[in-house]
Amino acid sequence: MRTAPEVLAPAGNLEKLKVAVLYGADAVYLGGQKFGLRMASENFSYDEILEGVAFAHEHGSKVFVVLNGFLHDKDLDEIPEFLELLEVAKVDAVIVSDLGVISTVKKHSNLEIHLSTQASCLNVEAAKFWKDQGVKRVVLGREVSLTEAKKIKKETGIEVEMFIHGSMCMAYSGNCVISNYTQGRDSNRGGCAHSCRFGYEMDFSSVDESKIQKIQSYFMSSKDLEGIRLIPEFFEAGIDSLKVEGRMKSPHYAGTISKVYREAVDFFHLEGHYNTEKIFEWEKELRKISHRDYTSASLISPADESSIYDERENEIKDYQVVGVMQEVVQNEFCLVEVRAAFFPGDTLEVLPYKGSVKTGDISFISDMLGRNVEKTKPGTLVKIPWIEGVDKLNLIRRKITS
Ligand code: SF4
Repeated sequence: MRTAPEVLAPAGNLEKLKVAVLYGADAVYLGGQKFGLRMASENFSYDEILEGVAFAHEHGSKVFVVLNGFLHDKDLDEIPEFLELLEVAKVDAVIVSDLGVISTVKKHSNLEIHLSTQASCLNVEAAKFWKDQGVKRVVLGREVSLTEAKKIKKETGIEVEMFIHGSMCMAYSGNCVISNYTQGRDSNRGGCAHSCRFGYEMDFSSVDESKIQKIQSYFMSSKDLEGIRLIPEFFEAGIDSLKVEGRMKSPHYAGTISKVYREAVDFFHLEGHYNTEKIFEWEKELRKISHRDYTSASLISPADESSIYDERENEIKDYQVVGVMQEVVQNEFCLVEVRAAFFPGDTLEVLPYKGSVKTGDISFISDMLGRNVEKTKPGTLVKIPWIEGVDKLNLIRRKITS
């Protein structure tokens, strides 16, 4: 039987790390306070890295830390100390894109090195080169198809990781400077302002004066990647790790993508085939998290205009997490930490760690003193009726009605 690929989820903060691990991610990736490409996201303090790695390892999951910014000499000077801390924390690998950083990692630590997608590894010779440099795994550029990835895996034997889900860059493997030029923020050192998502006007008057027109368009914004239907092809290509983008997204996103891709990988691994009913169920779940329209990008054939999301940046979001299960007392009640308002009479959904979503009619809400609550307040603890099949720390959500 083929080895199942790893499900690798984004961990934007400690809570998202725990949610991803509990919902089935084999591994998570996170950023420290420096050296990554998401300086606008929350990122982890060193104490949080320690706690996150301990939690993940306790549950059998791995932790990778990104060091994938394109760094200048003054940044490099600070890396050895950080590497020492990562080794003490027992992180499982670092994700690197710059040769200077790779050299520094090798000189100052024994940490496993994964090559970031930013390095644009697209072919067999490049993968061989990186393998010779001591890289254990390559995260392939997003321009690579599954057929090409299969060849790279077969001819180099290096571990291969590919993106299977999440936001995409229209620029080549994210090597983009639109944000630098338009906003003064360096995309390749963690400052991307998502300039590709803005609307732009095209003025054709200089080309043909009789055709003076300005068109407002979002022609650089890519749809989101979704590869749920392609799991059999990822197995067939021998891909080692299926990566989901999205460190800046919500705990709901981290939980849903970890659960859905875990179930899909396990199903195919166990059954050896796919099942239409299951695919519909997984796709339905992937449409409940915030997303743009979905595309398979370049996994089968090169991305083209059909991959452009020509709309104002307004991710579709139909569901909101309203609470996290803190305690479940069978046949009596569930204790919920409230994240957003809900009301008696609402129907809530609970995302279990395994299996179909559970639904609960909220016939009552009471506070810790047993008093009725008419509208919940974020940060409080409330009791709701017991919902069969739910567990501690499950996410509770509510459909957003417009
Ligand atoms: S501006 Fe858009 S294309 Fe450029 S790096 Fe940022 S997200 Fe990617």
